[in-house]
Amino acid sequence: MPTLDTICVQGAYQPKNGEPRVIPIVQSTTYKYDSSVEMGDLFDLKSEGYFYSRLQNPTCDYAAAKITLLEGGVAGMLTGSGQSANFYALFNLAQAGDHIVCSSAIYGGTFNLFNVTMRKLGFDFTFVSPHATEEELRAAVKPNTKAFFGETVSNPSLDIMDISVFAKVAHENGVPLIIDNTFATPINCRPFEFGADIVTHSTTKYMEGHASTIGGCIVDSGNFDWTQNDKFPGLTKPDDSYHGIIYAERGRGAYLLKCVVQLMRDLGSVQAPQNAFLLNVGLETLHLRMARHCENAVAVAKYLQNHPKINWVKCAMLPEDDQYALAQKYMPHGTCGVVSFGVKGGREAATKFMDSLRLAAIVTHVADARTCCLHPASTTHRQLTDEQLVACGVSPDLIRFSCGIESAEDIIADIEQALEQI
Ligand SMILES: *Cc1c(COP(=O)(O)O)cnc(C)c1O
Repeated sequence: MPTLDTICVQGAYQPKNGEPRVIPIVQSTTYKYDSSVEMGDLFDLKSEGYFYSRLQNPTCDYAAAKITLLEGGVAGMLTGSGQSANFYALFNLAQAGDHIVCSSAIYGGTFNLFNVTMRKLGFDFTFVSPHATEEELRAAVKPNTKAFFGETVSNPSLDIMDISVFAKVAHENGVPLIIDNTFATPINCRPFEFGADIVTHSTTKYMEGHASTIGGCIVDSGNFDWTQNDKFPGLTKPDDSYHGIIYAERGRGAYLLKCVVQLMRDLGSVQAPQNAFLLNVGLETLHLRMARHCENAVAVAKYLQNHPKINWVKCAMLPEDDQYALAQKYMPHGTCGVVSFGVKGGREAATKFMDSLRLAAIVTHVADARTCCLHPASTTHRQLTDEQLVACGVSPDLIRFSCGIESAEDIIADIEQALEQI
């Protein structure tokens, strides 16, 4: 088995004699066959092949297969965004009336999706700490619980989830653990090795890496036994919308197969082949970029740690950080390039600091090649009072600083001159 570095560069696409060296962009909605019988067999899933790009497209599949190799799974698919990946991941195994145990330290967009939109569809959620004990997790489980969900390193609170504890209690209760591995990427953490069953990604972040395309991905470990109880009729009972297919009988990767032929068929949140091509170009350097992102984050965090104008710094790669031990357990080579910190002087000083930055841009995006930052209290969370901010884990002085892959020296010089302005 090649190393992750080699999979990043060459994984999944193996051109034959005379074929393009680089993954081709297959910009076609449809695929031609010589006979109706051959086409019929594809629809019956009797033979493999492409027929319509809403279900599958070769360019998208090469990128998905590379991510699947990186995560160590058996099957994967791309989606149009990280949001659709997380929606599909849950909707593929649960429905109205079902319940999910979810870490409270998750991306704001995911929290809205779950807590507002999916509640409207009849889903129920219990939010727990990413560091919940086994007892606390057990107490959150209900008879209708269908999955556990959390983020490896949460965006933006940077909490490290105790994946094996969540996996243990999920499995005790006969349900899978789904992990959004966006911030760590498989270069820094492979959640399947710690018992996770399904992994999702916003490929928009480090994977694509250059802030040029939105995308998502779902990977199936193939390890979860859907037939061990009667909690997953969608996988173990015939699907009337697919002439009675029973997904669980299709072997490992049954979950992912259902996700493609049922959910993607019906909901259609595909990633465009052009975007999958760019995603793959990003993946080719993921191993190099992640190392550099982490190196720069450590350098920035160390610089800020003892600065008189800084209240606090959060970066789990620093031995002084209270999550250092957890980070070492799950991500010994580094967590991600994002650090957060508080500038003395509250909202006003934070705003002045941000406006004085020259190299680091103020953007809502995070986790790409260019250093960028965000002050939630004056942007994404500006409607909230200081008390409300604290309640949702975002202090008024918090700055989310996403270290790019420029030189650490230049990033720190930029921070230094901006701090001098306050
Ligand atoms: C950005 C993000 C998402 C949503 O992804 P989009 O590609 O923006 O739809 C989901 N999870 C995490 C952890 C993210 O950072």
